Amino acid sequence: MFGLDADNEAMVRKVVDQVLGRFAEQPEIRQAPRVDELAANVGETITPAGLGPDEALRLYTEYLAPASVASDHPRYLAFVAGAPTTASSVFDLVVSSSAQCGAFWLDGAGMVHAENAAMRWIADLAGLPAGANGCFVTGGTTGNLSALVTARDAARRSRQAAGLDRPKAWAVVCADSTHSSVDSAARVMDVEVIRAELNPEHRLTGISVAAAIDGRPDGTEVFAVVATAGTTNIGIVDDLDSIADACNGGGVWLHVDGAYGAGALVAPSVRDRFNGIERCDSLVVDPHKWLLSPFDCAALVYRDPTPARLAHTQHASYLDATIEDAFYNPSDHAHVLTRRARGVPFWFSLAVHGTDAYRDAIEHTLSVARATRDLVVAAEHLELLIEPDLSVVAFRRRGWGADDYQAWCDQLMANGTAMLTPTTFEGGPAMRVCIINPRTTVDDLAEIFTTLEP
Ligand SMILES: *Cc1c(COP(=O)(O)O)cnc(C)c1O
Repeated sequence: MFGLDADNEAMVRKVVDQVLGRFAEQPEIRQAPRVDELAANVGETITPAGLGPDEALRLYTEYLAPASVASDHPRYLAFVAGAPTTASSVFDLVVSSSAQCGAFWLDGAGMVHAENAAMRWIADLAGLPAGANGCFVTGGTTGNLSALVTARDAARRSRQAAGLDRPKAWAVVCADSTHSSVDSAARVMDVEVIRAELNPEHRLTGISVAAAIDGRPDGTEVFAVVATAGTTNIGIVDDLDSIADACNGGGVWLHVDGAYGAGALVAPSVRDRFNGIERCDSLVVDPHKWLLSPFDCAALVYRDPTPARLAHTQHASYLDATIEDAFYNPSDHAHVLTRRARGVPFWFSLAVHGTDAYRDAIEHTLSVARATRDLVVAAEHLELLIEPDLSVVAFRRRGWGADDYQAWCDQLMANGTAMLTPTTFEGGPAMRVCIINPRTTVDDLAEIFTTLEP
């Protein structure tokens, strides 16, 4: 039943055919089915005798897959989509079928070596020193939490070393534009969040970070600043260099959340926006967003992984064999233990295509974003809300309110034209498109925009 008998071999071939079919087909955008409708179509699937591979695969192909939207549709412009290369997607199958765990060097050395090579590429793009490394985690959310846990642990240790008691409260400084996962991490860690003001360009700067650190309540210690390299809503890169100055002055950990935006480190046309990123203590970049990797793949990289190990290594009698100085254990650097080697599909695609192909693909998405910005500026009935730093274009349709945007998005989805969702900007309803898919064209955007004409 579990080995490769004749039945299972036939099943593997059918599954591989399903995968090939999926790659060959243009995915469709559809509205989510009603809960009862999907349940009725699919019926009972978990049964004592099992459905057999053909029936289970049929239910998946006919009902389950079409009930979800593939994020690599070229007109999936909501949130931050994902657009994995064929190489990275298909290699996910290989990683899963290898049954190799990515937690420790002891039994996962090959996987860890490959992940480290991919991680090194990201560290080099950011200008981090030799020795920088970390762990591929499930997403920006886990990455931000793990980095902040490390930062607080480091701050706690230095207080202890200085003979100081615990502070009355720990705090992290960030901005209103910081991703919600940082608030979530703060709740998990039971720490305070101090908001620093954005400048008129919606950018966090060193001046306001320094003011926020100075203005902390008595007895509160700021253990980290979170700067964003590409805000999710409008794609702004904070002023990393001046923020690094503010952190250095106070000996505060600088975490850069580049979950969405830092994929563009590979693009020469915008590389200078990230100046100062090389001064961070930790950085999160999601290859599953803008670096063409399948879910779930986020790179968490530390300038120096040592404090991460102090914070995260789990100790148990049966785990001691895994800890050895010469061994690099990804799991010692994040809030995880058992883990799939989720960086390996990303590594495979990088190894296959080379880094120039990544540079060109990301530059292409940026050029489509610039052309989209031009379409907005050229249209009387549209208003550009902010000059794009990266590949998010935020705009308003003159005369529209929140209900109009929602109705427009619903209609686009019902027609299968595009996947968009409304947002807010400076307190008012607005639209955003986020372009990360190299297959998205200017024509896609132009066609969507014709439906906005008066
Ligand atoms: C998407 C995003 C996150 C969260 O990442 P997940 O991979 O969804 O957990 C965090 N920060 C920023 C800036 C993001 O864009």
